[in-house]
Amino acid sequence: MDKSTFEAVFAGREFADWLQEGVWVADGSGTVVFANRSLVALLGQEDTAGILGRAWQDMFNCNEPLELKDAAQAGRSSWCFESCRVRGANNKETPARVEVIRRTTDGVPWLIGSVTTAGRSARLSGLTDSTGRQVMENAVDGICIVEERRVVYVNRRFEELTGYTRSQLGMLSLDKLVSPRDRQAVTQATQAPDKVLTPVHHEVRVVTRSGRELDCELRIVPTESSAGTALLCFLRDISPLRRAQRSQSDFIAMVSHELRTPLAAIKEAMSLLSESASAQLKDRDLRYLGIAREEMDRLNRMITNLVEVSRMEAGKVSLKLEPIALEEILTRSLESLTLLINKKNLKVEKRIQERLPRVLGDQDRLLQVFSNILDNAIKYTPPSSTIRTTVRYRGPMSDVLALVGLSGGGSYIQATIEDSGPGIPAEFLDRIFGKFERVDPHGPGIGLGLSIVQSIIELHNGKVWASSVLGEGTAFNILLPVREG
Ligand code: ADP
Repeated sequence: MDKSTFEAVFAGREFADWLQEGVWVADGSGTVVFANRSLVALLGQEDTAGILGRAWQDMFNCNEPLELKDAAQAGRSSWCFESCRVRGANNKETPARVEVIRRTTDGVPWLIGSVTTAGRSARLSGLTDSTGRQVMENAVDGICIVEERRVVYVNRRFEELTGYTRSQLGMLSLDKLVSPRDRQAVTQATQAPDKVLTPVHHEVRVVTRSGRELDCELRIVPTESSAGTALLCFLRDISPLRRAQRSQSDFIAMVSHELRTPLAAIKEAMSLLSESASAQLKDRDLRYLGIAREEMDRLNRMITNLVEVSRMEAGKVSLKLEPIALEEILTRSLESLTLLINKKNLKVEKRIQERLPRVLGDQDRLLQVFSNILDNAIKYTPPSSTIRTTVRYRGPMSDVLALVGLSGGGSYIQATIEDSGPGIPAEFLDRIFGKFERVDPHGPGIGLGLSIVQSIIELHNGKVWASSVLGEGTAFNILLPVREG
């Protein structure tokens, strides 16, 4: 089986993992080469190891034979098996409905299957056609259906958003509604709907009939219809949101710029004071000065983060790339935080694999990444506890790469920073990378550090994520591609 061909075909692997339905992909001979998380759970397995390499038919027990042959001769490309059972944990069997579609991409045939347990499919089939139509007609998002490159249905909201009537839209193709800048992605989908295997999401600028431009989210979902693959398109106007975001970042950029100058002056005045008057100052006064300086540094870090966020949003950040030993960046960041580490009497453990290859990165930005993550680890770890750091190599076949959707065939360096703090609730593990997101809104900080971390790592084509056990600690993981060539 050619894995890279499969990866290219099934670009929405991460998406498939979040589906509630069990989903798998089998190669031309019927051998399973991909299974999503829901399928692993439905079959009572711990991971995909017991599923990959099996014949797809072996996963189900059905009243009718699971054969695609006859139907294929009749020119069909999708099959549905209503009365099946899946055997999960403790050999418990659950009634299920199995659907299989056949796709050929670049001459390579694939089978894509989904399994829905009975409770769910009954709920879905309970929707009558007319209810479905009403839901579509009154939806808050614009909806249109494209069949054979033609718009065959639009709801009311779609007409409102674009300014065109149904009959006008019936004569237009969808790509003509978006600005030339975004047209290519939409044209690709409408011209070759068969190649859209999973839902795709684009941010596009829609040009209305009166020539106004609207920032919109466009989600294109492939679906089987009697005429072949139809595309269900959902359009959401996000221009008010984008406007609000733009004024928010303009405001932040302005305020943080204005704060920098007086802060630098206060810092300078304080160091002059402590140098010139240190002989006359009492211990207590020197302690107060020390506290003031620490807080000043904290304020400075916050402002640096604010400035950085607005520069990134304005697309003003360009990386100065060079080969970098990630372990050295970690060591330098730890050194710069020695005072804070010692103040809390923390122990820092370092496990660094030998002879690690380098990554291609921007030194200053990667220092900022580590310093933001370590700053948090120090902040949240109780005094006299331990922070563990690891840097290791991850080859192209490493499980961790597949888990985070980095399976393009390259190798990576993984750095992990693990603290022994209070941990982060599961529902916040992704959210904390958003701007101004904090678990405790009254806690310290302004919630920008991790958002900068994520932006910098993504600019480096890497990945960052957190895992945590409440009451035991949090681990932040970074993957950065090894320098090619
Ligand atoms: P800030 O630290 O400035 O608030 P961050 O973006 O660095 O912003 O972090 C966002 C939020 O994530 C923090 O407010 C905190 O609630 C949570 N957080 C980050 N790191 C940790 C950690 N190591 N342990 C527990 N919570 C954390």
